[in-house]
Amino acid sequence: MSTSFEPGAPAGAGFVPLCVPEVGGNEWRYVKECLDTGWVSSVGSYVDRFERECAARAGTRHAVATVNGTAALHIALLVAGVRPDDEVIIPTLTFIATANAVRYARAWPLFMDAEPEHWQMDIAKLRSFLETECDWRDGELRNRGTGRRVSAIVPVHILGHPTDMDPLLALARQFSLRVIEDATESIGAGYRGRKIGSLGDLACFSFNGNKVITTGGGGMVVTDNDAFARQAKYLTTQAKDDPLEYVHHAVGYNYRLPNLLAAMGCAQLERLDDFIARKRSLATTYTAALCDMPGLHLPRAASWADSIWWLYSVEVDAAIYGEDSRALLKRLGTAQIQARPLWQPMHQSPAHAAAPRRSCPVADHLHTTVLSLPSSVGLSAADQDRVIVALRRGGAAAAK
Ligand SMILES: *Cc1c(COP(=O)(O)O)cnc(C)c1O
Repeated sequence: MSTSFEPGAPAGAGFVPLCVPEVGGNEWRYVKECLDTGWVSSVGSYVDRFERECAARAGTRHAVATVNGTAALHIALLVAGVRPDDEVIIPTLTFIATANAVRYARAWPLFMDAEPEHWQMDIAKLRSFLETECDWRDGELRNRGTGRRVSAIVPVHILGHPTDMDPLLALARQFSLRVIEDATESIGAGYRGRKIGSLGDLACFSFNGNKVITTGGGGMVVTDNDAFARQAKYLTTQAKDDPLEYVHHAVGYNYRLPNLLAAMGCAQLERLDDFIARKRSLATTYTAALCDMPGLHLPRAASWADSIWWLYSVEVDAAIYGEDSRALLKRLGTAQIQARPLWQPMHQSPAHAAAPRRSCPVADHLHTTVLSLPSSVGLSAADQDRVIVALRRGGAAAAK
């Protein structure tokens, strides 16, 4: 298993995990209230409150809770009108859930390369694809290579840093594409003073254990569109049209978030600002301590970005650093420090081999060179210092 959060991963014994939850506010009190009152399942006041507060945080009118972030993406795609055999543009550099959700909607992911500066979807390549590889046919945008309709774009704000949304939104308008933000790694981030999650037609959050706030597992669809919100609620609750006679006019899903987990979410949300401040302070510390280290390229926020630095990640230039990313990964592991490469880019994924193949050289490069470093909200100064010392001792320095 290569996920970043493994329950039961050794917490003591000097092990520094990549990213683990921070629990210790009102979680116990709110969950206990659910247990005491019997409101543990898929309806309850905490679900309503969690939805209300997530909408407020995202700056949208509506929010619909889901059982996880992948389910949120699936529902958002359906609600946005993505149809079977459509193509949906996603960055190749993302966690596989984005691509899987497109397949659940029986559409095809179309993989866009990353830009080399901030590693988000490359807007120039997106524009070039839309302008030179697509045609309008009968009022619909078609990929000339496959003949399929292109209906949506899913920008993924990876690692807590926003995608450059203004030019992306302008292209979406020009080419009549829906925009669904995959904001699962970036709750609370900002783009030119606006909130991530409020920029597209819909957006999705995740509350998995390794995300900024967690419900153990959970997700959220947010939107300003009344009809989209209604449809999202309908589809996530088995598309029930008559709750007494159990009449359903569509095949829906049981994607509801239990009240028990929403209770935990409400408690976590109370501390989101503190968690983000902590992530930013970890990033500042890493950057100050590593900025003079030859061969390590540190992440910088784009001019448009108010990043939350979900996972602080560095690019290792092996020729200068003296050690490549995988050798460094191994050495950190030996020192009981958990780091992680970026995901295998989706255009290389055997699971998505049937999707159209495109060349994505920047993502290929980042996949081999970038490592994410321990970024838990609760990372102690002493443990962060151990990570820094290990990185500074590395490569060329070690060879001297
Ligand atoms: C975590 C994540 C998801 C899915 O969230 P789950 O709650 O784990 O289903 C989707 N996309 C990206 C980019 C993610 O990091």
